[in-house]
Amino acid sequence: MQMEKKDIRALTKEELRNFFVANNDKAFRGNQVYEWLWQKNAHTFEDMTNISKETRAMLEANFVINHIKVDTMQRSSDGTVKNAVRLHDDLVVESVLIPTETRTTACVSSQVGCSLDCNFCATARLKRMRNLNPDEIYDQVAAINAESRLYYNRPLSNIVFMGMGEPLMNYPNVMKAIEKITSPEGLGMSPKRITVSTSGISKMIKKMADDEVKFKLAVSLHSAIEEIRNEIMPFTKNFPLTDLREALEYWYKKTKSKVTYEYVVWKGINDDKKSIDALVKFCKYVPCKVNLIEYNPIDDGMFQQASSQAIDAYIKALEQHDIVVKVRRSRGKDIDAACGQLANKEA
Ligand code: SAH
Repeated sequence: MQMEKKDIRALTKEELRNFFVANNDKAFRGNQVYEWLWQKNAHTFEDMTNISKETRAMLEANFVINHIKVDTMQRSSDGTVKNAVRLHDDLVVESVLIPTETRTTACVSSQVGCSLDCNFCATARLKRMRNLNPDEIYDQVAAINAESRLYYNRPLSNIVFMGMGEPLMNYPNVMKAIEKITSPEGLGMSPKRITVSTSGISKMIKKMADDEVKFKLAVSLHSAIEEIRNEIMPFTKNFPLTDLREALEYWYKKTKSKVTYEYVVWKGINDDKKSIDALVKFCKYVPCKVNLIEYNPIDDGMFQQASSQAIDAYIKALEQHDIVVKVRRSRGKDIDAACGQLANKEA
């Protein structure tokens, strides 16, 4: 049986150097190939013109280069660009470029589908097929960076892991991708411009704190009342709010980095005073800010955006307690590129 060839971009520079030494070549050859793969963006071994024919053939026999392919690109009337990203095994994920006056943000996917079951999210309806590899995450960012330069004459300024999947369920690969994105050999972006959004996997939040990560943390809270959260995000029955609180306190103690809570207000679900009071109370545990996200309906019926009075009541209560709150308007709605809508219709 033929061994499946390894994705060469899953190797670190050190591993590549070791590979060449083990194959009676110089470690330096590893640096050259690494440069081709990451700085020069080579898609085939043939492209590596300063590498001998024999060495290229040897690489070909051992490895593959799995680049993503951006299949369809849709542009919204508000300038948002959605990419359908085809992976080497023909699966598809989506990523989005969101421009504003001052920044361009890449919203990237971390998994094909999602293993969680948030009732209001389109991706949750897809089966989780697999985790994305570090290079598949990196490539989404690199592709959006190129689009940002092309359409808006400026490089990407921010990245949010708010596309498909739960990043903390694919933690090692997300970490490797972020290492590459922030390293001078990759895109050289500041980790402070990267936000990892989680539905609240407490154990992994603690792990991130132990790893002293430098990027930002956002938590999809949506309710600070256990029973309501269990209802709208059933998996949270195994991830109680008390654990989440404890993990966030640990996170803040270690990183001194404020947490952002993402929060959608729905009619008849969390648009009452009890919910507001619970959120205000939860916000006292660690320094934080709240993003009130506009709901993007997913043809469901169960969920409806709350009235503007209800949103105002949230804003008023939070501000009264000196908690920073922002209302996040939805972007890219006309091309299904908005938050929680990523579910690749053609796949
Ligand atoms: N799994 C991660 C990241 C992906 S979801 C997480 O849960 O944070 C990114 C954000 O979109 C989350 O805050 C999620 O709750 C929100 N979201 C999902 N579906 C949505 C919808 N239909 N309308 C508005 N926001 C939604």
